[in-house]
Amino acid sequence: MQNNPNTTLITATAPVAANTHGGRAKCLQRLVRLELPVPRTVALSFGAVHDIAEGQMPDIAAVLEQFDETDLLCVRPSSEDPDWGGPGAILNIGMNDARYVELSDSMGADAAAALYLRFVQNYAVHVARLDPDVFEDVVDEGPQGLSEVLHAYEAETDEQFPQDPAEQLSEVLKSMARAWEGTTARLLRQAKGAPADAGLGLVVQQMIPGVGQGECGSGVLQLINRSTGMPQITGRYLSQSQGRDALGAGSGALYLEKDARGPSLEELAPEAFEELKTHAALMRAKLREEMQVEFVIESGHAHILDGVRVPRSARASVRIAVRLAEDGIIPQEEAVMRIEPHSLNELLHRQVDPEATRDVLTTGIAASPGAATGKIVFTAAEAQASAARSEPCILVRRETSPEDVRGMHAAVAVLTEKGGMTSHAAVIGRGMGLPCIVGASDMTFQTKKKTLTAPDGRVFKTGDTLTIDGSSGQVLAGQPAMLEAALDECFQTLMGWADQARDIGIRANADTPADAQTARNFDAQGIGLCRTEHMFFDPGRLTVMREMIFADEPSGRAAALERLLPMQREDFTQLFRIMQGKPVCIRLFDPPLHEFLPTTRTGQRELAEALDIPVSDVTRRVEAMSEYNPMLGLRGVRLGVTVPEIYDMQARAIFEATIEASRDGAPVVPEVMIPLVSAKREVELVKVRIDAVAAAVAQERGQDFDYRLGVMVETPRACLRADEIAPNTAFLSFGTNDLTQMTYGLSRDDAGRFMSAYVQQGVFNEDPFHVLDTDGVGELLQLGAARARAAQPGLTLSVCGEHGGNPESIAFCRDAGFDYVSCSPFRVPVARLAAAQLAI
Ligand code: PEP
Ligand code: MG
Repeated sequence: MQNNPNTTLITATAPVAANTHGGRAKCLQRLVRLELPVPRTVALSFGAVHDIAEGQMPDIAAVLEQFDETDLLCVRPSSEDPDWGGPGAILNIGMNDARYVELSDSMGADAAAALYLRFVQNYAVHVARLDPDVFEDVVDEGPQGLSEVLHAYEAETDEQFPQDPAEQLSEVLKSMARAWEGTTARLLRQAKGAPADAGLGLVVQQMIPGVGQGECGSGVLQLINRSTGMPQITGRYLSQSQGRDALGAGSGALYLEKDARGPSLEELAPEAFEELKTHAALMRAKLREEMQVEFVIESGHAHILDGVRVPRSARASVRIAVRLAEDGIIPQEEAVMRIEPHSLNELLHRQVDPEATRDVLTTGIAASPGAATGKIVFTAAEAQASAARSEPCILVRRETSPEDVRGMHAAVAVLTEKGGMTSHAAVIGRGMGLPCIVGASDMTFQTKKKTLTAPDGRVFKTGDTLTIDGSSGQVLAGQPAMLEAALDECFQTLMGWADQARDIGIRANADTPADAQTARNFDAQGIGLCRTEHMFFDPGRLTVMREMIFADEPSGRAAALERLLPMQREDFTQLFRIMQGKPVCIRLFDPPLHEFLPTTRTGQRELAEALDIPVSDVTRRVEAMSEYNPMLGLRGVRLGVTVPEIYDMQARAIFEATIEASRDGAPVVPEVMIPLVSAKREVELVKVRIDAVAAAVAQERGQDFDYRLGVMVETPRACLRADEIAPNTAFLSFGTNDLTQMTYGLSRDDAGRFMSAYVQQGVFNEDPFHVLDTDGVGELLQLGAARARAAQPGLTLSVCGEHGGNPESIAFCRDAGFDYVSCSPFRVPVARLAAAQLAI
């Protein structure tokens, strides 16, 4: 048999590999090499199992020769990746009437009957394909149960239960091989990422029965807690049992370690318990992984049947990888590679306990991760009132607008009917680390009536409790159990190792001091985008802003800007101080002015009162400023060109803050960024004025400072003409949100409505606002980067759209030679880890 690679006795040197015989066979060989007490095992290769499915049996007699005639056998699946599953194990092959009589003498009739009965039932259902209901009425225990089961088998098949071990084994192998080739199994494993032609190996193993005289039983053991990753011996043991029975046995099963909650294996069989702990520790060290050990105890001694990687939560994964590296078992780089970057989201945010029951009302777009429970409110004002009462609330809106930002600050989560990954609620939510679901269009939002109706007809009104799971997109009724964020020292250690390996910079998009602090806490290398318009929605400032918009005369506008200046100066000083000399890129004002004007009657009346003008003036102005297509209207640099005083004020605030913050801290070199550029002349016009403001401030204060002027490339034309734009700038930052919108001609605020239909029908592989479209938008990025660098080598290039936090998109940016990506603060750790993995 050693010469037949299709059926191989597993020894330390046998030719067994995971890609020919499967992961289980390979693992068993490793255990044999460690000289652990593993029962004798024969591995059947993928080729052999495929042949069996096609009707070509290997030499069964040769397989059986590897075992004693009295051995019972079991067959288990061995797919290349254990996660791909496989048919269930079949135990106690070789049981027949004669063995039953012999075993009844040695271990007692009940134990022998249990072995035989289990085999007959499994064989009947999985091999002979009988309906499990056939055994519904039989007593399923002891000799009486056995005889009833055998009888039922014979009645159903008109045949005696097969007595020949060779025939039994052949039939079992055949049924398992065919089960793997079936359509359902194929689809199931493909859903888990297996290739269409993934092979199945099988292992035939000598049974250690787990039933009989003395202390016999089976169980599983692991050295850690699978939710937290902390050292803790966990698992279950069940006397007189086989396979994984202990796991499903409920109260009948024992704890392993001494436990106040009940009896334990440690007390029942201390020697076996010690042996198991030693074996498990050896497996951890040599297999370089936390393993779940499947074991059998026979007359007080432990045998190891199998080892599988402990299934684990994301937080446990981090702790396990870090501890393995700290113990010198794996290198640090490998620990970094073992963590799936997206899984960090589970650690960074509170989440619904995976064990909790979920009452799911609907699933929308998971726009900002984390989970929160609160009473629903339908307006920003209600959210603020709720926060003032210290009552957590969820802001429910059809969509959010800048006026809702104060409500978002007061809420613990946001739910909207409309929108996609880059709509207002999504971008602000991610920036604030606020759980957010957008595009929940299956629900009926009646915000005026203040009701929210779920697809199943349940109606929720103000004050009712919902839970938003922004990680999965699920809207849940009530308050499921939660797990807190876990930013412990293992997380910090892992991130430190990731930074050592990484070769592309990671900055954060941060608009407020709180965002900047989060960015610092997550070790962002600077701020890559501060959207200054987000600084104007504070109720105190909004009125001054509106006065500025309403000013008819330049002098009136100047007066309002004069009042906004110290507020902005204070904002920037704080950002610079928090970032302690790390670069801060401030984008000059971007949105259309009319966004600052009230849209509702009440709002317009309030504004008329505040400004002491007739409501009709307010209404007229709102109408006059409204645009058919604001996203393509008077925003970004177009404002800077037509109402230059606003950018002048912002530049002055930035430079005065620079001097202020540099006085008592690290020297600041601010980066000033011009948004939505499409022509070189726009940059020239703005640059002249900003340079002039810088010179004026330096002269007034008697202090020189440096600053860097850059352009945000977010229109297709700016990409195409990057060669003429670059020479006026120190850096270009690609705004892939607008660039995606304009390249596709796809509204970022409306695409959510039909995006899922587009993705489902394969028009787009993914939502291009979420994962960078490397073919189209990516080509524009490459083209813009190449043209800009050719015109001005040494120019800093970055991406600051939402894609900056997406691992696939980071890979693209790194390949294209970008210096850094910038993303929402809470995505910084994911980006740091993903970037490190690209460099390892
Ligand atoms: C962008 O367009 O990619 C961007 C970062 O700017 P905003 O999302 O503010 O339009
Ligand atoms: Mg933009």
